[in-house]
Amino acid sequence: MIHYNQNIQNKEVVPIKHILIIEDEVKIARFLELELQHEGYQVSISHDGREGLNLVLTNEYDLLILDVMLPSLNGMEVLRRIRQTSELPVIMLTAKDDVMDKVMGLDLGAQDYLTKPFAIEELLARIRVLFKLKTLAPSNITAPLTLTCGNLTLYPDKFEVSYNQTPIILTKKEFELLEYLMKNKDIALTRDQILENVWGYNYIGDTNIVDVYIRYLRNKIDQPFQEKLIHTIRGIGYQLKEN
Ligand code: CA
Repeated sequence: MIHYNQNIQNKEVVPIKHILIIEDEVKIARFLELELQHEGYQVSISHDGREGLNLVLTNEYDLLILDVMLPSLNGMEVLRRIRQTSELPVIMLTAKDDVMDKVMGLDLGAQDYLTKPFAIEELLARIRVLFKLKTLAPSNITAPLTLTCGNLTLYPDKFEVSYNQTPIILTKKEFELLEYLMKNKDIALTRDQILENVWGYNYIGDTNIVDVYIRYLRNKIDQPFQEKLIHTIRGIGYQLKEN
C-alpha cells in the first residue's frame, strides 16, 4: 500500500517516503522511529542484519538507516549484498569514530554516515539533503558523453574510465570524484568544494576523506601510466591538469 501526503496549498500529492532502520539497539531504533514518524516518514524496523537484508531485498524503501554492529550479519556485509542489486540510499551508523569504517562504508556505496552518539537534528538534516539530491538527479540529461584530460577519458553515462584505451577500474565514489575533477579541469578545487560536490554536503571535521580518495585515484590513474594529472595545490586542495 502506498501512502500519500496531501499538500493542500499546492494541490500536490507527495508520496510518503518509506525508511527502513536496521539497528539492534531497541531503544535507539524506537527513538529513531518516533522521530522519523514525527517528520512524516513511514518507518519500518529490523533488529537483525540478516532479517533486515531480506526486508530490503523484498520491499521498496526510499532510504535505509543501517547500523554497522549488528547480530547475524554486520552492517558492512548487509550493505555489500544490497549493492549487488540495489541503489537504495544508505546512511550508516558507526559506533566508533573509526576512519576505516567510514571509508569502507562509503567505498561499499553508502551515501552517508553518522558517528554515534549523534544529534537527531543532524540525521534529519542529512535525510532531507539525500531526498533533495535524489529529486534533482535527472537533470544530468545535458551531461557530455565524454570528459577528457590528456590521455584520460571518462564516460559519465557508461561509468567507464580509460587511459589511452586501457580501462581503469574505479569504485563508485572514486568515479564520482574523478568526474568532478574532470568537469573542473585546470581549476584548483578546495577540499570543501570537493566534499560538497562529491559527497553532497560538508563532513564536519573530516576533510581527510578527500585526501584518502585522492590517494586511491592517484594509485589507479597517475601511478600506472607515469603521468601526473592530479596535482596538489598547496594551501588550497587539488587540481586536475595536463602537463
Ligand atoms: Ca549495534
